[in-house]
Amino acid sequence: MVWRCRPVVPGWFTEGGDDGGFRLLGTRCTACSAVFFPREDVHCRNPGCRGGGELVEVPLSRRGRVWSYTDGRYRPPAPYVSDPAVPWEPYTLVAVELAAEALVVLGQAAPGVGIGDLAVGMEVEAVPGVLNEDAGTGTVWTTWHWRPVAA
Ligand SMILES: [Zn+2]
Repeated sequence: MVWRCRPVVPGWFTEGGDDGGFRLLGTRCTACSAVFFPREDVHCRNPGCRGGGELVEVPLSRRGRVWSYTDGRYRPPAPYVSDPAVPWEPYTLVAVELAAEALVVLGQAAPGVGIGDLAVGMEVEAVPGVLNEDAGTGTVWTTWHWRPVAA
């Protein structure tokens, strides 16, 4: 089988940026410079914005600092889709503050990174990750993960 990689949500990240790296993609209002992630493509959500700006796609900072984190040790209830025949694998969620954009972006920690590996204020970077592999369609659903930057 040939596996194909597809982003779980189109347009939220790229692996083919000008610098060749993995970047989350947001949008920025040309009138007030507010940055949105998830991307806002219809109208600026800044209540203080006078409007009239365009929303242009911008790559977000690759690195940020841990703002908060937690882990999920229990299987979430329906409508969350999970196979009850497969043991539940705890996962780690990280909220990361991007100072330049004045944004906090939630995401899963990279595989093998637990809450014991994290601390508030620690520098982390966005890296490509796999959300799910669907053997039925041969699709690898890709997402972003947060990984501590080696000191
Ligand atoms: Zn605006």
